[in-house]
Amino acid sequence: MTKVQAYAALGPGRPLEPWSYQVESLRPGEVLIRVHACGICHSDIHMIDNDWQMSRYPLVPGHEVVGEILECGPGVAHLTPGIRVGVGWQRSSCGQCDDCLRGQDHLCEESTGVITHGHGGFASHLVIDSRYCFPLPPELPTEAAGPLLCGGITVYSALRAAGMGSGLRIGVIGVGGLGHLAIQFASRLGNHVTAFTTTEAKAQEATRLGAHDAIIIRDGKPDRRPARPLHILLNTVPVPTPVDVYLDLLGSDGVLCYVGAPTAPLTVPVWPLLVKRRRIMGSPIGTRATIREMLELAALFGIRPRVETFPLAEVNRAIEKVRQNTIRYRAVLLV
Ligand SMILES: [Zn+2]
Ligand SMILES: [Zn+2]
Repeated sequence: MTKVQAYAALGPGRPLEPWSYQVESLRPGEVLIRVHACGICHSDIHMIDNDWQMSRYPLVPGHEVVGEILECGPGVAHLTPGIRVGVGWQRSSCGQCDDCLRGQDHLCEESTGVITHGHGGFASHLVIDSRYCFPLPPELPTEAAGPLLCGGITVYSALRAAGMGSGLRIGVIGVGGLGHLAIQFASRLGNHVTAFTTTEAKAQEATRLGAHDAIIIRDGKPDRRPARPLHILLNTVPVPTPVDVYLDLLGSDGVLCYVGAPTAPLTVPVWPLLVKRRRIMGSPIGTRATIREMLELAALFGIRPRVETFPLAEVNRAIEKVRQNTIRYRAVLLV
């Protein structure tokens, strides 16, 4: 029996408070993790605020978890105590539907989330299905690996689904928690990267992260065009953007891909899609296989989330900074 010391929201929008629960015993396939670090994702804040009308309270946020296996439940053969692992958004999938059977378990309609169907990683411990925790390569530091498990896989999987290989021209809108990782993945894998951002300081930071060009967005629109048409344009910002302007930056068969959900529906002119066979797509998290691939590539190519760390006890101060968008680029709680 383990007593888990956590921080929980007891109601919508409430500051987190110390809260504990008991883990009696592990069910088949589960593991008990001692949490060492946990990133703060904007989805945690949407869940705290019940923005998606699916939150259950007490709500323990946290789905960018890094920790160490303490105990394995019955039937867990591929993990052993002491292994350092990461956990992301997903808690389970049905294993039976068409999406699961074709290896796209992150698209499963019966899938559950770490914080939508259980308690998350702003805590001393986490219990999770062993199939949804991932051994971490030793190159990835504990305090910086967490944001790869949600932010990193979200952009990496989206770029792959949009056709990223190497030698392509890829644009990234937004240099924040997601964008700063997308720039690193796309450029380290041998693509020409153009960042779109709102300030000169972030443009310079984008260049340091690996972008080959950075274009300033003024009054919602880029102030110039990239030198050549883009193959892929990844939109990481959740604010409305002028679709016609960005579609026009794509070449034939170009893809405009959304990983941040704008608050209002898009208005899409069809003609720019039709004449150049362009596409608009969205993408959520990634498959388990893609998570493993992403972690290996991050280790191999030196892709590292830039993080600000906070002790778990200062979780409310960290959340406030995330709400105010003053974190560069991802907040991580150290437990
Ligand atoms: Zn997330
Ligand atoms: Zn399924």
